[in-house]
Amino acid sequence: MDACVFCRIVAGELPASVVYEDEAIMAFKDQHPEAPVHLLVVPKKHFASLAHVEAEDAALMGHLMLKLPELAVLQGMAQGFKTRINTGRAGGQEVAHLHVHLTGRPSLK
Ligand code: AMP
Ligand code: ZN
Repeated sequence: MDACVFCRIVAGELPASVVYEDEAIMAFKDQHPEAPVHLLVVPKKHFASLAHVEAEDAALMGHLMLKLPELAVLQGMAQGFKTRINTGRAGGQEVAHLHVHLTGRPSLK
């Protein structure tokens, strides 16, 4: 059995509030939100961290990056949003599957 929590969410083995999914990536709500909107955007392919991504994964990573502003708009954050990737123990990474924190507050208009 796969021990990686986010791989298990991707596989549908663990519940999550999924807001977006395609063939390569998934976005779901952080279980301990730090902001009114707090999504985790992950590649479906397992990378232990950003430091484990290789050149052959550039298209996948580009796809994920380009999806971030689209997801922000869908979450009502067309005015702006924050992104963060914690990498490694010293970087505050707790879950060893690459993920982007997408946070912010929906704007009123
Ligand atoms: P990081 O410190 O960057 O590794 O952040 C890990 C994030 O994953 C934290 O904000 C946790 O709240 C979140 N998290 C851990 N397990 C789950 C889960 N099963 N579903 C949703 N979010 C999770
Ligand atoms: Zn994983």
